[in-house]
Amino acid sequence: MRILCDLDGVAADWIGGIEDGLGWLPVEDSEWLDWTQGDGASPDAPDDARAGLRRRIKRIQGTFGFYAALRPIPGAVAAIHRLADAGHDVWFCSTPDPLNESCASDKINWVESHFGEGWGERVILTHDKTLVRGDVLIDDKPRVTGAAEPEWTHVIFAQPYNGGPEAIGRWRVRDWEHALRFVEDYARLLVGAA
Ligand SMILES: [Mg+2]
Repeated sequence: MRILCDLDGVAADWIGGIEDGLGWLPVEDSEWLDWTQGDGASPDAPDDARAGLRRRIKRIQGTFGFYAALRPIPGAVAAIHRLADAGHDVWFCSTPDPLNESCASDKINWVESHFGEGWGERVILTHDKTLVRGDVLIDDKPRVTGAAEPEWTHVIFAQPYNGGPEAIGRWRVRDWEHALRFVEDYARLLVGAA
């Protein structure tokens, strides 16, 4: 089975990286941090606090090398190696951050350093994942859309911001252990259907 795996929010701890950054910037508005919201700012925050927090998050996210410094999501490295060892064709499929000039090379280097030699060549950077072929896309974005009708089945990797109404009726895995069980079951389903 060909598995496409997103990086931020699935293999790389993007929220953790932002929170590390908020730790060394002024934090007067940090009580308004709310990761159930896509932009990380609570809807209850006063407008100026909301704008300040958004600005701060953007600044951290835009820092040169931000994407190279992210920690892997717990269980991701072992689980992805397990999928590859089990014979799955695993690729990373991620979108470069337009706010960060080192993002694209950081992502390739990040995969190479955390997953091992040769893995950097398994990184597909694209602004349209629907054009990439695969059986499964593991992605934290609740809806992945683009120019084509995707070939893959989208599995949502659980994050605080993707458990809302958009996730109803969709495949959603809680963590990497759950994702491994899903892939196993789904692979069996595909073989059964063939
Ligand atoms: Mg993501």
